[in-house]
Amino acid sequence: MKTPLLTIVVPCYNEQEVFEETSKQLTLLLEDLIDDSLISDDSKILFVDDGSKDETWKLIENESNENCYVKGLKLAKNVGHQNALIAGLEVATKHSDCVVSIDADLQDDINVIRTFVEKYIEGFDIVYGVRDSRETDTFFKRSTALGFYRFMGKIGINLVPNHADFRLMSKRALEELFKYKETNLFLRGLVPLVGFPTTKVYYDRKERLAGESKYPLKKMISFAFDGITSFSIAPIRFVTFLGFLSIIFSLIAGGYAIVQHILGNTIVGWPSLMVSIWFVGGIQLMGIGIIGEYIGKIYHEVKKRPRYAIETDLYSINNSIELLNEVVHKKV
Ligand code: UDP
Ligand code: MG
Repeated sequence: MKTPLLTIVVPCYNEQEVFEETSKQLTLLLEDLIDDSLISDDSKILFVDDGSKDETWKLIENESNENCYVKGLKLAKNVGHQNALIAGLEVATKHSDCVVSIDADLQDDINVIRTFVEKYIEGFDIVYGVRDSRETDTFFKRSTALGFYRFMGKIGINLVPNHADFRLMSKRALEELFKYKETNLFLRGLVPLVGFPTTKVYYDRKERLAGESKYPLKKMISFAFDGITSFSIAPIRFVTFLGFLSIIFSLIAGGYAIVQHILGNTIVGWPSLMVSIWFVGGIQLMGIGIIGEYIGKIYHEVKKRPRYAIETDLYSINNSIELLNEVVHKKV
């Protein structure tokens, strides 16, 4: 088997503080892997600039001029981590045999990429990086994440626990993944649906190199909510179930009231009336809200809007120039 061409895709949003170090470490890793003949010497690192407002793109562009392993992809505006990642994966897949995705802050141990590649060579199409410990994350982030995986498992969404978007995928697995055209992207939920031989590699998660988490609580909640409502109708079922319960409850309460009335114990009904109005009203509002959430999803999906727009693609441009040079040289 010829050595595979690997591309490492790194989405970056305002990552000027970490870029240099990340690029340095990944380059060293790539060189090591090339020296050991694990990957082809055409392997690359593709930095995707997700509409950063700082100097990130400038740094990427400069680096790509100086470092033959580094390529850049600039998106026209900020589209969020998942969309930026799929943009990078789509461009990288055109040129590669396998692609690794990793966050720019290097919280994930880059040394396991070697194991990823070995597993790929063994014949695995998807290799998940799974965090062994999350000690460097805050207690809050750890416990909410754990709760999230448990809850997702309960309502029947298959996720690999403690796996973020650090994984290797083969070209054919990625090509299958791209057939999922949904706008509400939740890659961690989609990748397991693709199939193919799959394995996991464990590692320790580290502190962010520098800069701040781009996932504040608000984004985390909306990410979790998207994950749930994109993959499951369990919440709608739950509302139906609540409605059913409340009907039974009100029947019992009604029966009780009639009996009390017959027995002559008529009680002033104001409090119970108020309570039940609030109760039923609450359930109705919640139900409408959740149904609305799904209708909102349908609304977004039917529009079939593009997930991202590419402003500059240094990967494909440079490759075409190289190809052109080769042709010209051959003719001369
Ligand atoms: N990111 C992105 N677009 C965004 C937000 C984040 O491309 O709108 C990138 C970010 O640069 C990083 C990765 O997604 O490489 C994960 O973000 P972060 O490390 O802030 O998340 P956390 O590890 O705290 O969950
Ligand atoms: Mg991070």
